[in-house]
Amino acid sequence: MSLDKIANRVIETDLLVVGGGIGGCCAGVKAAEQGLKVVVAEKSHTERSGNAGMGIDHFNARPKGNATPLCFLKRQQKFMTACLGEGRFVDPNMFYSYFSRSQWGFEELERIGVSMRWDDDDFYWVPNAHIGERKSCLRVHWQRIKPDLSRALKKTSATVLERTMIIDLLTNGNNITGATAFDTRTGEFIIIKCKAAVVATGDFQRCYEAEAPMSWKYKLRYDGCPAAQSGDGRAMVYRAGGDLVNMDLTQF
Ligand SMILES: Cc1cc2nc3c(=O)[nH]c(=O)nc-3n(C[C@H](O)[C@H](O)[C@H](O)COP(=O)(O)OP(=O)(O)OC[C@H]3O[C@@H](n4cnc5c(N)ncnc54)[C@H](O)[C@@H]3O)c2cc1C
Repeated sequence: MSLDKIANRVIETDLLVVGGGIGGCCAGVKAAEQGLKVVVAEKSHTERSGNAGMGIDHFNARPKGNATPLCFLKRQQKFMTACLGEGRFVDPNMFYSYFSRSQWGFEELERIGVSMRWDDDDFYWVPNAHIGERKSCLRVHWQRIKPDLSRALKKTSATVLERTMIIDLLTNGNNITGATAFDTRTGEFIIIKCKAAVVATGDFQRCYEAEAPMSWKYKLRYDGCPAAQSGDGRAMVYRAGGDLVNMDLTQF
C-alpha cells in the first residue's frame, strides 16, 4: 500500500532537516537563504529544544591571536581525555575543519541575530585553560540562543514543523527520498518527500552510563542530553544505511 494513501498529510520539499537544535536551525536558515524549499521537523519546540535549551556560555572555536586551529585541536584532545579518559581520541579532520571555519560561523551567527556582544557592545574574551593563550575563548551570554535561532529560522521561507517527530527516513537505492513523521500533539501521520536530508538530532547518552572518569560519568548522563534525545536520530540513519561515526564522542 502506498504510504501517501494512509498519511494524513503529505509535504514536498527540497531539503528536510531533522531536528531543530542549534545545528538544525542553522542548516535550515542557510539552506533557505540559498533558495531551497526547506522543512525543519522538530520533535520538541525549536524555542527551547535540544542541548542548548537552557542556553550556553562560551564560544570556544574562534582562533584569535596566536591560537591556530591546530592549538584548538590539541586542546580538544586534552579536554576529551579529561572527560572521557585515556585512549579516547577526537576525529582530527572533523575538528580541524570545524576550527578552521569557526570565524565564518561566528560572523554568520551574528548576521542572523545571535549576538555575542555584551552591554558595552564589545566582546568578552577569557583565557582558555588548555591553550594557554590569555584571550582565546569567547564568553557569550547565550541564554536565549534557541529563541533567537528559532526566530531567525522562522523569518526565512522554511516551513518549521514543531512537535513533529521523524520516525524513519525513506530511501530509493542510496538516495534519501523522504521521511515518515507524526505530530506528537495530534497524532497526525505525515509523509515528507524530499530530495535530500540533514539529520541534526544531536547527541544521545541518557540510557547508558558513560565510560568516563567519575567526575564526568554522571554529568554526561544527566546534565547533558534532554530526555527528548532518545537515540532515534541515529537509529533512523542506521536503518537507512548511513554511516555512524564518532559515536564515542557523545556531546562534544
Ligand atoms: C548544560 C550544557 C551546557 C553547554 N554549554 C556549551 C557552551 O557553553 N558552549 C558550547 O559550544 N557548547 C555547549 N554545550 C553543547 C551544545 O549545547 C551542543 O553541542 C549543541 O546544542 C549541539 O547542537 P545540535 O544541533 O547538534 O544538537 P541539539 O542542539 O541537541 O539539537 C538536536 C535536536 O534534535 C531534536 N530531535 C531529536 N530526535 C528527533 C526526531 N526523531 N525528530 C525530530 N527532532 C528530533 C531534539 O529535540 C533537538 O532539538 C552545552 C551542552 C549542555 C548540555
